[in-house]
Parts: sequence; C-alpha cells; structure tokens
Amino acid sequence: MKKIAVVFNGGTISMKVDERIKAAVPSLTGEEIMSMVTGIEEFADIESYSFSSLPSPHMTFKTMLELSKFTKDLLDRNDIDGVVITHGTDTLEETAYLLDLTIKSEKPVVITGAMRSGSELGYDGPSNLAASICTAISDDAKKRGVLVCFNGELNSASEVTKANSMALNAFRTPNFGPIGIVDNNKVMFYRETKSTEKYDVEEIKRDVALIKCVADMDSSFIDFVIEKGYGGIVIEALGRGNVPPKMVDGIKSALNKGIPVVVVSRCFEGRVHESYGYEGGGKMLKDLGVIFGDTLPGQKARIKLALAINSTIDKEEIKKQF
Ligand code: ASP
Repeated sequence: MKKIAVVFNGGTISMKVDERIKAAVPSLTGEEIMSMVTGIEEFADIESYSFSSLPSPHMTFKTMLELSKFTKDLLDRNDIDGVVITHGTDTLEETAYLLDLTIKSEKPVVITGAMRSGSELGYDGPSNLAASICTAISDDAKKRGVLVCFNGELNSASEVTKANSMALNAFRTPNFGPIGIVDNNKVMFYRETKSTEKYDVEEIKRDVALIKCVADMDSSFIDFVIEKGYGGIVIEALGRGNVPPKMVDGIKSALNKGIPVVVVSRCFEGRVHESYGYEGGGKMLKDLGVIFGDTLPGQKARIKLALAINSTIDKEEIKKQF
C-alpha cells in the first residue's frame, strides 16, 4: 500500500466556531480531522504532520518557503509516495504556485482545504482530504506539478484561482477549466498543463508590489512603491494590458531604476497583449520594456516575479521566464 504524508497547515479545514465570539478560529488537530476521513486506511497508509494552524491571511513568503522545504524533505524519502497539504483557501493559490515553482519532485503534491468549518453543516474538509489522498496515490498524478483539489475537481497550481468567496467549488481555472476530477475515489485527467520553470530560492529578500489599475489612476502608488524599495512591480492593468496615461511616467521611472514591471489583466479571463498603440496602451508599455504576464492573475504574477528577482538580476532572463 502507498504511503502518503498529510501535512496539516491550518485554514478553515482546521477551524470551528468559537461560541463566545461567534466566528471560526483554529481549533481542530490533524488527528481530529483525519479521524473524520473514515475508510481512508483502505486506500493508503497515512503519516500526519502538524506544520502550522495558520489562517491563510497569516501566510508569509518565509512560511511558504519553509513549507516548500518541509515538503521537499518528505518527497525525498523513498517510503513516501506523495504529499497532501492543507491550507486556508484565501491565499492557497499563492502558496500552491510557489510550491509548484520550487518543488522538482515528480511525486504528486496535492493541496486542499475546506470552504466550511468543522462547525458548519456540510463541512467539506474530510471529503476534500479523502479526494486529495486518492489523487496522491495515483500514478497518473505524477509529473503534473502541484495540484489543488476541492469539491472533486483537480486544478493545476499554475492555473487555479479562488473564484468564489463561499462556494464549495471555489477553485477554478479561468480560460481552460479543471485538469481532472476525482470520481468514485479514482482520478481522471482530461488534459496536460504547461510545465513550469523551477526556482532555487531560500529567502525572498526583495518583495514585489501589486497595483490594481482603475480609471483615472495616476503614478502615485508606483512612485510610493519605488520609494519604499520594492524589487519588482506587478500591475493588474485594464483589459488587454493597458493603463491610464497618467501611470506611464511612474512605469518609466520604475524601469529607469531597473525595477522590473510585469503587466497582467484585471479581467478574470484572457491574455494580455500589445494590441493598443495609444498613450498607455499595451504596445507603448511593451516598447518601454514592460514584461507581459500572459494569463496570470496579479497575485500569482507577484509570486513568480518575487522568485525570479530573488534568483537572478538578469532582466532578459526574467523576461524570458514570463
Ligand atoms: N479565511 C480562511 C483562510 O484562508 C478561509 C479558508 O480556509 O477557507 O484561512
């Protein structure tokens, strides 16, 4: 029988409502959660680890990189066939993407959690964990990078985003849809994903700021970010990758100071492209030296740019990685 390491790392899956404040707080241990995944012993040997009980808004780059190292050490063991990690859903896509970009192992790594706490009717933690473990034991799940498993659907960490603040199927892949499903405890994949480049980064010394574009925005936020010493800027631009004209000077100053600027779209779906030639249009930004971030949402482009600028200072190399 295959052995799967289950790493408990907080989130709603390990929360219950505290009656005094009438709100969910961390309270369930890994053992308590595993005891609700009834019958799993027929599928895999489970080794549980308590990594943290963090709500995911408390995640930091430091914790993400520690989790990456912890996971790599487990995957290096010959007796471990795959790793399942729990995570709060709010920043799950950011950690999942960081793990995807830093873990080289071919063994399955599956991240899951819950949209409802242990106090709510329809607590989805145990079923998500069961489906994740069934995924981790599957040979088909190897060499697919980090996977995110919720509500019987599998999405690639490089593509997924949290698209709903409350639904059980909160995790979706814009543009393409899920990569597979878990049906009757069996995993089925429908398509491949692009393999992601890998980074060897031990510490994020230079952070990346994310700025969301709105109509009539000027360069003040960009100027602030430059002054604060950020190492990179991601701009969630309008539509195909355009910004209001008043932001162009800020972008020019950042680029002149050697700060890479990545442009993605604030639209939920679609790629950015240098389609428009007017002031602030994508063509102008591209000519200035801005990097286009394809279909990535801003929060994930930030993770990638942070790993990129903390592993190389070569601007052309950074551009190539996007
Ligand atoms: N706010 C919670 C968290 O991200 C939500 C969840 O886990 O579903 O930790």
